[in-house]
Amino acid sequence: MSNTVQIHPALTDRLESEIAPRLDEHGKQVRCILMYSGGLDSTLAGILLRLQGIDVVAVNMFTGFCLTDHKRKRGDLRPDGTRYQNEAIVGAAGLQIPVEVVDVREGYLKVLTEPKYGWGSAVNPCIDCRIHMLGHANRELLEECDAHFIATGEVLGQRPMTQHKRQMRIIERDTGLQKMIVRPLCQAAMWETVPEQKGWVDRQLLMAITGRGRKSQIQLAKDLGVLEYPQPAGGCCFLTDGNYGKRLRDVIDHKPAAELTFEDVLLLKVGRHFRLPDGGKLVVGRNEGDNGMLAGFWTLGPFLRVDGHMGPLSLFVGDEESEDFDLAMAITARYSDAPYEAPVPVHVLHQETIQRTVDGVVPLNKGEEIPWKIM
Ligand code: SF4
Repeated sequence: MSNTVQIHPALTDRLESEIAPRLDEHGKQVRCILMYSGGLDSTLAGILLRLQGIDVVAVNMFTGFCLTDHKRKRGDLRPDGTRYQNEAIVGAAGLQIPVEVVDVREGYLKVLTEPKYGWGSAVNPCIDCRIHMLGHANRELLEECDAHFIATGEVLGQRPMTQHKRQMRIIERDTGLQKMIVRPLCQAAMWETVPEQKGWVDRQLLMAITGRGRKSQIQLAKDLGVLEYPQPAGGCCFLTDGNYGKRLRDVIDHKPAAELTFEDVLLLKVGRHFRLPDGGKLVVGRNEGDNGMLAGFWTLGPFLRVDGHMGPLSLFVGDEESEDFDLAMAITARYSDAPYEAPVPVHVLHQETIQRTVDGVVPLNKGEEIPWKIM
């Protein structure tokens, strides 16, 4: 399974030497911003535009919820034993186009927790998310990159929440980008855009791919000379994950919206989560990668770790005087190598410093389901 984009040398030559630059009505090179993930669809969109002589600047929006990025930071390995990489950066290198990773986390908490157009089947606020990203591109990037329009790798009818004409119209209206987004894979099956009307883009060279299947894109990749591209990994966004959704709903139920922070929602990506009887929260690392990531959330509460046995790092968020805290220590001990019924000492840490040690913590029975687990 490839994790990069590789194009045939003949296509590289074609892109580099044969194509005349497309100029606008003032004789200026036409340039677009391509919303780029590094996947096949946005890669094909970029190639189709470059084949028209259009300068393509790839932009990858960073929300903090990309699954591949999370695995990369956690140090996971791909099924073939290689490390995860930022697919947009690797893909753009393969396509030989510049790429910019743009941090759009500011304002994203509201998008996630109070989406105007609602959530999908999990807690994926896809319409609002697209509005947030494209709005960002419209406000700051078009001018900054001296670009004429925005392009995406969207395919009409491919994703139920955002890739139907009605939703696309809503997204364009709410971002102020009416008819300014070109979708090279499917635009020929849709309305004519301003860039086409102005002659910046040749409509005859755009595709009319529709639907959820991948056959047309795979064939187009072959025809164009795209030899390798990342395979869809079955979900690339945490927000489409049902378990993440349950955790988010739990946080929303237990914390007033005004007090919710971006850290609260990022924490939901890491470890096993428990909502304890008095309202306290416990997060238990699943492995070293999780433990390392959890350590970054030290501002939210103390860490717990069993002394003398291999075991996870846990984060407790709540009242240390409550029964929840005792339970949190017992659950932490349960996930350690300590035998059941053998009381163990548990360290309470602030960052990496041991603040105190609680002796005689009896691990919860390993054979029993823990009723406070969220998911
Ligand atoms: S899948 Fe995730 S990144 Fe993509 S539009 Fe939906 S919420 Fe945004």
